[in-house]
Parts: sequence; structure tokens; C-alpha cells
Amino acid sequence: MSDIKIVDAPPGVEGAGFFATSVDKVIGMARSYSLWPLPFATSCCGIEFMATMSPHYDLARFGAERLSFSPRQADLLMVMGTISKKMGPVLRQVYLQMAEPRWVLSMGACACSGGIFDTYSVLQGIDEIIPVDVYIPGCPPRPEAVIDGFMQIQKLVQTESLRRRDTPEYQKLLASYGIQ
Ligand code: SF4
Repeated sequence: MSDIKIVDAPPGVEGAGFFATSVDKVIGMARSYSLWPLPFATSCCGIEFMATMSPHYDLARFGAERLSFSPRQADLLMVMGTISKKMGPVLRQVYLQMAEPRWVLSMGACACSGGIFDTYSVLQGIDEIIPVDVYIPGCPPRPEAVIDGFMQIQKLVQTESLRRRDTPEYQKLLASYGIQ
């Protein structure tokens, strides 16, 4: 006997021969399962990300195995590692080169807050220079935590309105970072 279980249909209006939902939901679902991450890895957290990409954890299960090392072909910026103040403008430029819609995942204590490096040369959190959508705590976070953070991004991508990025709130957020 087969142990395959049929999952419930996603929320929508069902009837004989049809299923109706909204464009927002369909596009959100498609986007969330085809994210192209740009790994901006500068130190040890990057190694943990490599483990997350490996066959044991396999980020490909989430449709995100296609890493992009070109900002113009990426929609999820994953920042992992210590970001020095000298590196800050480079990170910001990479963010600016990404097209909308784009999301940012800050992985590990260093990227989130400077971590143990409370020094004159280290940026005390990447949100000082670019907006961040999800933070993953830990030093380093385990691959399970990375996957959890990634799933939080997926949830955000699925639920945010297609027009969120045109809203005055979003424009205000970008303006607070000096981004047009
Ligand atoms: S958070 Fe810890 S593991 Fe990650 S880059 Fe910083 S020092 Fe390394």
C-alpha cells in the first residue's frame, strides 16, 4: 500500500473543475520557491552556509540551489561574516545593483551586530548601511538556523503584497538609508 499522502489545496476558492486564488499569492509562491541567493560571505559564517548547501542539508530542496555571484541576477542578499567599515561601501553597492524585488538576510552575530568585534574597524550591524529583512542569530548559526531564516524569508515573499515596494512606507525606509 502506498504511504503517499495528498496535501490539502492552498487557500482559495474551489469548485468542480476550477480553483481560484489571487495573482499576489501565485506570484508570491513562485518567487519564494525560486529565490536566487547572492552569498556575501566574508568569514566563518560562510563555511556554515557551505554546509547548508551541501547534500545533507541541501538548500536545493527550497528551490534556491542556483547561487548568483552577480547582483543583477540575484534577489536574496545573504550577508554572512564580519563586515569591516572598509567593506561597507562594497556591500552597499552590491545591494544597490540588485533589482527589485530584493530581500536581505543577515546571518550570524557579526553581520547582525558586529558580534564579538566591538572595534573601531568593524561595522556594528549591516542594518547601519542597508535595510535587513531577516536576522539569524548565533556565532555561527547552525545550518538548521540558516534554513529557518531562509524559510522566514520565503514566508515574507509569499505574504507581502506585490505593491509593497511601491508603498510610501517602503520608499521612506529606502530614503532613510539614502537610497532612491
Ligand atoms: S558570527 Fe561568529 S562564526 Fe559568524 S562570522 Fe562572526 S565570528 Fe565567525
